[in-house]
Amino acid sequence: MPMMFHVKHATLCESLRRRPRHDMPSADRLVILDRDGVINRDSDHYVKTLDEFVPYPAAIAAIARLSGAGWTVAVATNQSGIARGYYDGATLAAMHRRLHALVCDAGGEIAHIAVCPHGPDDGCSCRKPLPGLLEQIRDALGLASLEGSWMVGDSLRDLQAGEALGCLPVLVRTGKGDRTLVKHPELAAPGSTTRVFDDLAQFVDWLLAGQSDARCEP
Ligand SMILES: [Mg+2]
Ligand SMILES: [Zn+2]
Repeated sequence: MPMMFHVKHATLCESLRRRPRHDMPSADRLVILDRDGVINRDSDHYVKTLDEFVPYPAAIAAIARLSGAGWTVAVATNQSGIARGYYDGATLAAMHRRLHALVCDAGGEIAHIAVCPHGPDDGCSCRKPLPGLLEQIRDALGLASLEGSWMVGDSLRDLQAGEALGCLPVLVRTGKGDRTLVKHPELAAPGSTTRVFDDLAQFVDWLLAGQSDARCEP
């Protein structure tokens, strides 16, 4: 299967140009991220413009740390604002060019960004909690399965999309994360398979430290 690396911004940053070609991705070294509320500030009124797309600096740095440690990073994001007419594909592409550039400047790489542009009534198979975006990532990376990959989100549906394909669920408290915990306290209850962290950076620190704790208490 061909390797597909989606580095679509026209000018590759220096760190990518100099870096030797990536190791083959593997499912157990893959972290899939929701976008809004995990990588960038979320908004209840949608992230509609490039100005409203505000990545957390600590999240960008965390993605770069993952890349540097040999992990593959991908993004799976519901963007129903497109179906709703709040912004268009060109605006979304500009946000993702900025994201790629920021991560690249920090020395990291996002291998693939999978987008669901549909609305809740469109009957698509990619809108989380359905697993279509993650299947797209799996196929784009040439993986046979996502068993053992990590799925990081701030909403229950992110975790559900991942669990359908055998991903390990991580909830971060940024974005809608705190609200998700109020609505679904079972996610942080003893016996929950979901690990809860303050933010992406804290999860990445834990992951790269060797996952020594069985659970991270919120
Ligand atoms: Mg989110
Ligand atoms: Zn969709």
